[in-house]
Amino acid sequence: MSNAVITVSNHKLTEMKKYYDSIGAIIDAKPQGSIFVAKTNGCTITAYKSGKVLFQGKNAQEEVAQWNNSEADNQLFSGKADTSSTKKKSSITKALEKNLLPYNLSEMSIIGSDEVGTGDYFGPITVAAAYVAGDQIKRLQELGVKDSKDLTDSQIVKIAEQIIPIVPHSLLILRNEKYNELEQKGMNQGKIKALLHNQAISKVIDRVSGDSQIDGILIDQFCQPDVFFRYLNGKEIPWKTKNYYFSTKAERIHIAVAAASIIARYAFVKEFEKLNSLAGFELPKGAGEIVDKKAAEFIERFGEEALVKVAKLHFANTEKAKQLLNKR
Ligand code: MN
Repeated sequence: MSNAVITVSNHKLTEMKKYYDSIGAIIDAKPQGSIFVAKTNGCTITAYKSGKVLFQGKNAQEEVAQWNNSEADNQLFSGKADTSSTKKKSSITKALEKNLLPYNLSEMSIIGSDEVGTGDYFGPITVAAAYVAGDQIKRLQELGVKDSKDLTDSQIVKIAEQIIPIVPHSLLILRNEKYNELEQKGMNQGKIKALLHNQAISKVIDRVSGDSQIDGILIDQFCQPDVFFRYLNGKEIPWKTKNYYFSTKAERIHIAVAAASIIARYAFVKEFEKLNSLAGFELPKGAGEIVDKKAAEFIERFGEEALVKVAKLHFANTEKAKQLLNKR
């Protein structure tokens, strides 16, 4: 598959829309920020309000040729990132930042990745990557896989236990002690997450490549792609030679991300249960006022040094909990 992107004027966009409308090629799909999607023989054309027009499919080059004239900023890129050319790479990054996702991404065979626990004072960060082949999507929908934010913890446990045996995945749990160690070494949370996503995705690729087709990688976006890759500077990124996409709310774009989020959430819930029994009382999720109170209670019972095992120490909650204890 080859892809091409051109940037055109508003006038040209209108002209293109008219043309594809006249040949009956406009289809009923509207990715975020798009004006129209058209499907011709061997090519899907997605036009965005920004003026970017994406051509995808085996006849992409021919299709783009009829529009590709001297207009500025015309960039071509193949479906695979070319690591030898920084110019091509930056055009891909730009396209990704503008959220140029293939309109049929949700039907493809995708490795999705997501993380849980980054905003919770208590508990680990868990990151999962999961591979879902196009022909498995329906099965997972039937099992109730969807955005984990729309599911209760007990629903998540139930669904996770059904999908874990059938979905090739990698799950990483960064427990508090290790997290605090990395954070104290000066690593920010963004970098920690980028490293974990990279590791999880790479493991899934190892697991499935050879016997399964991977159309692309979809990462639930937590920072700009260029920042993400800066965090990974010097690390091996085996999936960078494949099509990769970043999007916020990616759980809603491809079920592989939803499956990854459910697996990550499941692990988080299970780890949290262990911490609860360690504490002997229920630790709250999130990072609000109740968390300050419970952190104070925890310190009172076990001493400040025990916090390193259950909490993300650099959160403001640590200081607030200590202030609460000082007031007593
Ligand atoms: Mn996420």
